[in-house]
Amino acid sequence: MKMKKIPMRMCIGCQEMKPKKELIRIVKNKENEISIDFMGKKPGRGAYVCKITDCFEKARRAKRLERAFETSIDDEIYEALKRELEEDND
Ligand SMILES: [Zn+2]
Repeated sequence: MKMKKIPMRMCIGCQEMKPKKELIRIVKNKENEISIDFMGKKPGRGAYVCKITDCFEKARRAKRLERAFETSIDDEIYEALKRELEEDND
């Protein structure tokens, strides 16, 4: 019996490899806009983080999103992303 291969991605918070569907994709589009990609279908450069604010905060403190996207990210954007993430957890 063959095992189905699960796509794995690294969380930028805890830096552990996790199945893609357990992570949230954050994407930066051509206009440099950063948003959460709940469906995993938005075009642009993506970074993955666990669906918990802990990992998000870790990534934020370590500036890993900035590094992944090679851009600076306003606090406003972080707050907006965090709100979306928290809403998704309800
Ligand atoms: Zn994580």
